[in-house]
Amino acid sequence: MVTATTVTVTKVWTRESAIAEKRDVWTAIKRGFRGRCPRCGEGKLFRAFLKVESNCSGCGLDFTPHRADDLPAYLVIVIVGHLVVPTALLIETNYAPPVALQLAIYLPITFVASLLLLQPVKGAVVGIQWALRMHGFDELNPEP
Ligand SMILES: [Zn+2]
Repeated sequence: MVTATTVTVTKVWTRESAIAEKRDVWTAIKRGFRGRCPRCGEGKLFRAFLKVESNCSGCGLDFTPHRADDLPAYLVIVIVGHLVVPTALLIETNYAPPVALQLAIYLPITFVASLLLLQPVKGAVVGIQWALRMHGFDELNPEP
């Protein structure tokens, strides 16, 4: 005859277990940049272009407490500006093409590069927030 026994595991809290484990910031940034969950790297981070999912489909991490706000837009302006402006100055000083030609090239490049970078940069910002435990991730979603 087989009898079922219930085993209750009690968690013993020590000083070491109370210290939260270190999260790798670069891994979280890379996962966020690819549009994946910063914790597991599997679940999708976005449900629309800039709409973050409510939680991860892979590990269940709650994404709602994050506040990326305007930081991704500022970072995209800095990145694209540092690529387009020096290029425009270099071409202007060396070749001096007509202004209309320059505008016809630089404006679409700036527009497209900004759109392409906005979602990955927002994902990276969410990854940084998760890795650095910003905006209450831990209070609402403690590690298992
Ligand atoms: Zn996940």
